[in-house]
Amino acid sequence: MTNKTYSEDDLIQLSALQHFAFCPRQCALIHVEQIWLESGLTAEGRIMHEKVHEQDRESRGNVRIEYGVPLRSLRLGLIGKADVVEFLRLNKETWQPFPVEYKRGKPKLDHCDMIQLCAQAICLEEMLSVSVPSGAIFYGRTRRRFDVSFDDSLRKETEETAKRTHQLITSGKTPPPVYEKRCESCSLIRECLPKAIGKKPSVKRYLSRMIETP
Ligand code: SF4
Repeated sequence: MTNKTYSEDDLIQLSALQHFAFCPRQCALIHVEQIWLESGLTAEGRIMHEKVHEQDRESRGNVRIEYGVPLRSLRLGLIGKADVVEFLRLNKETWQPFPVEYKRGKPKLDHCDMIQLCAQAICLEEMLSVSVPSGAIFYGRTRRRFDVSFDDSLRKETEETAKRTHQLITSGKTPPPVYEKRCESCSLIRECLPKAIGKKPSVKRYLSRMIETP
């Protein structure tokens, strides 16, 4: 666990962690170079978030639901918003927060979305002095909620991602592209040009080609 605290001026967007976990270059293109182009997929995601944020709050039995909740952690240096935080009434004075993030697609194999949700939980813990052991991600394509437990390993991964995302944004340097399967679902593939730039001729590649040629 990191003991460093950031100042208000050094806070980065909480969503940058999800971008960094997906691809550090994508994170730098958005948060360093400020490139953000809306594709059909990101528009769909934005509309879904806006719909969630249309309401302020509602109550259902023992659960009070808050929409678009502002978040901040000076320990991780993050600022952002939670789509939804459900507060479950445990007794007259105690409420248990439970963050819920809305995503357009379907559950992913990587941890990007879980890291973003865990960062939200860490913000809530710091702001409200409570422990937040779990939350959920709602995926639009499957229309199902996927519960996430904030165990030690996910917390460690989230803290490490926050640290590395800060380092990347502070450096002001955009890493070169590496073409991988994830590029096909990346909203910045046209600006990044991973196939063209990532395969730029290099002396090393030229020499290895020469060696391979009989
Ligand atoms: S196209 Fe690929 S390398 Fe480029 S930003 Fe997207 S995921 Fe990263």
